[in-house]
Amino acid sequence: MRKSLLIAASVLVAIPAVVSATQFITIGTGGVTGVYYPTGGAICRMVDKSKAKTHIRCAVQSTAGSVFNVNSVKSGDLDFGIAQSDVVYQAYHGQGIFKGKAHKNLRTLMTIYPELLTLVVRKDSGIKNIKDIEGKRINIGNPGSGQRNSTDLLFKETSLSKSGLKEAKELKAAEMPDALKDGHIDGYFYMVGHPTSNIKDAANSVDIDLINITSKTLPGLTKFLKKHPYYAMGTIPKDMYKGVDHDTRTFGVKATLVTNAKTSDKVVLAVMKAVLDNFAAFKKLHPAYKNITKKSLLEGLGAPLHPAAKAYFKKLGIL
Ligand code: GLU
Repeated sequence: MRKSLLIAASVLVAIPAVVSATQFITIGTGGVTGVYYPTGGAICRMVDKSKAKTHIRCAVQSTAGSVFNVNSVKSGDLDFGIAQSDVVYQAYHGQGIFKGKAHKNLRTLMTIYPELLTLVVRKDSGIKNIKDIEGKRINIGNPGSGQRNSTDLLFKETSLSKSGLKEAKELKAAEMPDALKDGHIDGYFYMVGHPTSNIKDAANSVDIDLINITSKTLPGLTKFLKKHPYYAMGTIPKDMYKGVDHDTRTFGVKATLVTNAKTSDKVVLAVMKAVLDNFAAFKKLHPAYKNITKKSLLEGLGAPLHPAAKAYFKKLGIL
């Protein structure tokens, strides 16, 4: 009797030890031809390098984008997500589509690289200016994506009229280049880091142009940028995509790695160390990281840092 009790007790002790041996974490990203997906892959690769020590393994999931990721981090369906800083800010503060649904448990690990709202058009569409999209078939983004959230706001708060479009399409990011090539749409909006294979693919199959979105060309933009300080102007350099031989000015955000306040310090630390302790190698994994520094990872926070992220930035003397 005593012996079997002892065995039962040791089994009880042994089971949790086995279950906790390897912890699996998932990062929600975006369409596979964007920059979130390879970024999730780059982070996971670094996390997995230390798996013998940390017992943490990382997987990437392709998703609808920022809004989906933030909501899934809230519900616990995803451990981590990449999201636009405007979406992160609005979610944390309960603004825009998150009105009445503030995500007070949303936490930032780091803001990774800049993304710019990019209007890609067919050269033969006749669109030369942002206002020319009126009367055209434009992809404004799939529900759940970050670009959809940003373009909805732009249509609502500037002189750009959504009802003035011939068609407002909701294709997913990965479907946009084919739709442009096949002539099903005249242009698409994409909030994305550069260069991205999505736009390279479009540029390599059809003559494209990128259109400026500036205060000079879009009445109401000055006020819009003032009202939403998380947007900042930036430049897509010329010759980044075939046939686009001019710089393109537009506004953008930061691609941000977020999690839930409930995520353990141990897991957050493993992800922080994966990126920061291998920073030079990480930077080489995508050209969109060209200008990032350890310090720039703290610029444009839309939600507070997770305590373990804060502690690690402090330990490294960056904060
Ligand atoms: N910014 C886009 C979004 O939030 C995703 C861009 C990407 O996948 O690189 O949906």
